[in-house]
Amino acid sequence: MSDASGRARPSVSTERCEACGAPGVVLLDVMAPPGEEPTQMRSCSRCETRSWWRGGERVPMAEVLGSAARTPSRPRKKR
Ligand SMILES: [Zn+2]
Repeated sequence: MSDASGRARPSVSTERCEACGAPGVVLLDVMAPPGEEPTQMRSCSRCETRSWWRGGERVPMAEVLGSAARTPSRPRKKR
């Protein structure tokens, strides 16, 4: 997605925070390496709980940071 301003603007979703239940979770697009699905960060403006999502699935923060740093792929851990 190209943006004229060159900056991703946060948008407020109508979803509720999974931690405190407050509405108005902020959505932020995170930089993703070429070829990877875009990742989105959801941040609660009230309790600051953050989660990362990619392709409709939640991803652990370590995985987001790992792909951003281009570290070798590791086996996924399931919780
Ligand atoms: Zn919250």
